[in-house]
Amino acid sequence: MNNMKRVYLDNAATTPLRPEVIDCMVDVMQTEYGNASSTHSYGRSAKSIIESARKSIAQWMGCEARELIFTANATEATNMILTSAVRDLGIQRLITSRMEHHATLYTVEKLAQDFGVTVAYLPAKPDGTVALEGLAELLQQEIPTLVTLMHVNNETGAVLNIDEVGQLCHAHNALFHCDTVQSVGKVRLHFHDLPLDFAVASAHKFHGPKGVGFAYISKNVVLKPMIVGGEQEKGLRAGTEAVHQIAGMAKALELDMTDLAHDQGYIEALKFYCWEQLQIAFPGIKTNGEHTFYNILNVTLPMPEEKAAMLLFNLDIKGIAVSRGSACQSGSSKPSHVLAQFVAEDDLKRPALRISFSRFNTKEDIDALCDALKGV
Ligand code: PLP
Repeated sequence: MNNMKRVYLDNAATTPLRPEVIDCMVDVMQTEYGNASSTHSYGRSAKSIIESARKSIAQWMGCEARELIFTANATEATNMILTSAVRDLGIQRLITSRMEHHATLYTVEKLAQDFGVTVAYLPAKPDGTVALEGLAELLQQEIPTLVTLMHVNNETGAVLNIDEVGQLCHAHNALFHCDTVQSVGKVRLHFHDLPLDFAVASAHKFHGPKGVGFAYISKNVVLKPMIVGGEQEKGLRAGTEAVHQIAGMAKALELDMTDLAHDQGYIEALKFYCWEQLQIAFPGIKTNGEHTFYNILNVTLPMPEEKAAMLLFNLDIKGIAVSRGSACQSGSSKPSHVLAQFVAEDDLKRPALRISFSRFNTKEDIDALCDALKGV
């Protein structure tokens, strides 16, 4: 890397680690190298770090420690939950939306292929949220069903009403899996107060390390493993635990939750400032999605279509990291599968960006983005 000042505004893709998390992980790696399955003191000590992390995460997430299973990431957790629900719990139908993350969408498609389950897709509304109007009717049909919908959409920041969906599911004996990847660590979620059966998280989305996440599996549901081998994680997820990763994830969640009130206000103000500055610089700019989550801003720029293909590249050479919003950008000839559900076709072709913020961003970052955009 050269010395150019770089600006990272892609926090929905992943977040920088907090320094305290790195310190915590280095400490564990240096001193706690025992295998948590060993019965000697090294093993017991490693095991106690894992179990303290589980307790701490459970406290922040409002559930019991035994309801958390550590995985490599949220993709693995979602694969495990959906697969076991179909294979072991007799689920015959999955209800979802076409705006889910591919971790869910491709798992659903695979389960339809491998097990013949039927799939119903709820449509999108013009504001980017999932239309729930047809859900009650679908659930009235007596088919063993699991509903899988994400809490916060990673591309648009559209927010699902977990209570509404979960209450409908439970009124009709359907299971509810919610992809909470974009909201864990960013809002107060109390799993036991929510009508949820399953939720998932990846630590790298909340300033923790990559390669670790968790599945929340309500104690009322018993799943079977996807990965078999040792007895780790109650036999639900075999393989020697990554003690430092798990400790780092717990530390990151603790820090983020402790600083939440301050950080949320700070990030909300940054997003507002960004939207104001973009409107001044680009009259006619549009947001994709309404009333979206506080750290994600997805916009379509009033620029000619030809600018779409090179937009991210042009920002990147100026040191600015953001994600594509929609059209044929960053080497892809397909529009975003999310925006394709609710954005008008003409707008889909225009240059669009997903800008996503964290506690480490500043107004200067946004000024740099606006300056760079004016120059493309
Ligand atoms: N779900 C959502 C909403 C996401 O944003 C992501 C990551 O981009 C995932 C699932 C998958 O997370 P991971 O790649 O860490 O497994």
